[in-house]
Amino acid sequence: MRVEVDQEKCISCGYCVNHCGEIFDWNTEHKAEEEMGIVPKDFEDAATDAIEHCPTDAILAINDAEDPWDVDTTRDQDQDSWILD
Ligand code: SF4
Repeated sequence: MRVEVDQEKCISCGYCVNHCGEIFDWNTEHKAEEEMGIVPKDFEDAATDAIEHCPTDAILAINDAEDPWDVDTTRDQDQDSWILD
C-alpha cells in the first residue's frame, strides 16, 4: 500500500498528521504530505483511518497491484529474458 496526498484537496485540518504522524507530516506549504510513500504493514490501519477520515478525500491509497510502476524485474534464467508483471 502506498499513499499520496493531493495538495490541491488538502485543507490542513490535521487529522492525518495527528493520528498517523509516522506516515504524514506538514510540508513547507502547511499542507499534509506523506513522510513515507510506502506504508509499512504496522501502520496500514492508521493510514486507512486517516484516509477514511480525511474530510476532503485528499489522501489517495494506491495498491501495489494497481501501480503501473510496480514491475517485477526478476531475471528469468531459463529464457534469458526479463519477466515483467
Ligand atoms: S486529513 Fe486530509 S485535509 Fe486533513 S491534513 Fe490530512 S490530507 Fe489534509
